[in-house]
Amino acid sequence: MERTLSIIKPDGVKRGLIGEVIKRLEANGIRIAAMKMIHMTKEVAQGFYAVHKEKPFFDSLTDFMSSGPIVVMVLEGEDVIKRYRELMGATNYKEAKPGTIRADFATDIEKNVVHGSDAPETAKTEIAYFFSELEIC
Ligand code: UDP
Ligand code: MG
Repeated sequence: MERTLSIIKPDGVKRGLIGEVIKRLEANGIRIAAMKMIHMTKEVAQGFYAVHKEKPFFDSLTDFMSSGPIVVMVLEGEDVIKRYRELMGATNYKEAKPGTIRADFATDIEKNVVHGSDAPETAKTEIAYFFSELEIC
């Protein structure tokens, strides 16, 4: 059993895609172990994306991620980190496989609807950034 952090980004929430994303998770046998809606401040978004702080897109990305509410979830399942990344599709929606969330809904390399942890270590840190053990069912 593995855990990963999923975020429905502000563009996904604004465009009414919460249900669509959750439907795809459940249809693929991925269990939601925790879920909440929050509105990050710029500082909280900067902390979450600290690994990208030297990147040219960091300022714009953290403005975007703090522009509105997001839905954060802990997902659980066998090999869920990789399986959820496959459902998400490539970072650049133009390169994402047809039928993935980003290929179907992203409008921009930045506004790409969803986030997912990329490895067990990052999943652990990212989950702990938003959830206490008590909030994970
Ligand atoms: N991003 C961007 N421009 C880029 C690369 C990434 O705006 O050239 C944004 C995009 O929203 C992406 C996030 O920064 O989802 C984090 O980038 P990462 O490379 O970690 O992609 P992900 O893990 O989300 O696929
Ligand atoms: Mg990433």
